[in-house]
Amino acid sequence: MKRLFIHSIFVIGLLFSSIATASDFPTKEPVGGKTFGTSTTKISDGLYVFRWWVYRNFFLVTDEGVIATDPMNPKAAKLLLSEIRKVTEKPVKYVIYSHNHHDHISGGNIFIKEGAKFIGHKNLLKELGDHVSPVTPLPDISFEDSYTLTLGGRTIELKYFGPNHGESLVVMRLPKEKILFVVDIVTPRRVAFRGMPDFWPDEWIRSLKEIEQMDFDYVISAHGPETQPAIDPASVVKEQRVYLEDLMSAVKTAMDSGTHSPDVLRKTVKLPKYKNWQYYEEWLPMNIERIWAYYHMGW
Ligand SMILES: [Zn+2]
Repeated sequence: MKRLFIHSIFVIGLLFSSIATASDFPTKEPVGGKTFGTSTTKISDGLYVFRWWVYRNFFLVTDEGVIATDPMNPKAAKLLLSEIRKVTEKPVKYVIYSHNHHDHISGGNIFIKEGAKFIGHKNLLKELGDHVSPVTPLPDISFEDSYTLTLGGRTIELKYFGPNHGESLVVMRLPKEKILFVVDIVTPRRVAFRGMPDFWPDEWIRSLKEIEQMDFDYVISAHGPETQPAIDPASVVKEQRVYLEDLMSAVKTAMDSGTHSPDVLRKTVKLPKYKNWQYYEEWLPMNIERIWAYYHMGW
């Protein structure tokens, strides 16, 4: 697998900045106000990781067309298409959605004129149907537990692990390359996102344990700054799971010892083992409050 990295190249790194107004969301880019850099990194034969700001996806170029994943938003999707055009003139035949959250899967409508079919978990049909967006086509192909997509001799396996982050999150595996694309439930070397919106802590840990049993050597994750590698070793899945277990047990221990105020827990519970992880200072207190709610309310 190491040879994959030897062949890795940086195709482009261009910088631009833009600020969306709240009313634009989600038909424009997410509100951020920071500089949104973008880059495309070749991982192996036909396999590329595309980054827009702190979001990532991958696309696979085959002899019969391109498979794209999570288009992110209209601006990112346009850039993604222009990056794809730099390496192939072949049409985008499929767009795979990782889950229902608009910040990851908006903007795919530009691939319709390429003839793309959209693929996602069956729960997406209801979730996207309840929140109709002109820039987020509904899946043409949906599935319950697993789905195998083949195109031009290449294969991507999709697997649903039940609820964990929303109720439609699928993990994508490239069996030949032994690479997983895992969105939102694995964010290497970063504490959990803020107050863990739409994350169910116990189901999240259960899902990660099941993912750890899969056959893979590397992970592409969907978040990270430009300094983060485009691909990480498989061990990041276990590291994420152990972080959550450590977080839950630290909060439970404090609550069992008589501290029930979330305000006090936010200030007193520390996880120094993770002090070098991104957003430790800023987001750990929010992670703690989410786990307090889990034990306090059973949610
Ligand atoms: Zn999400």
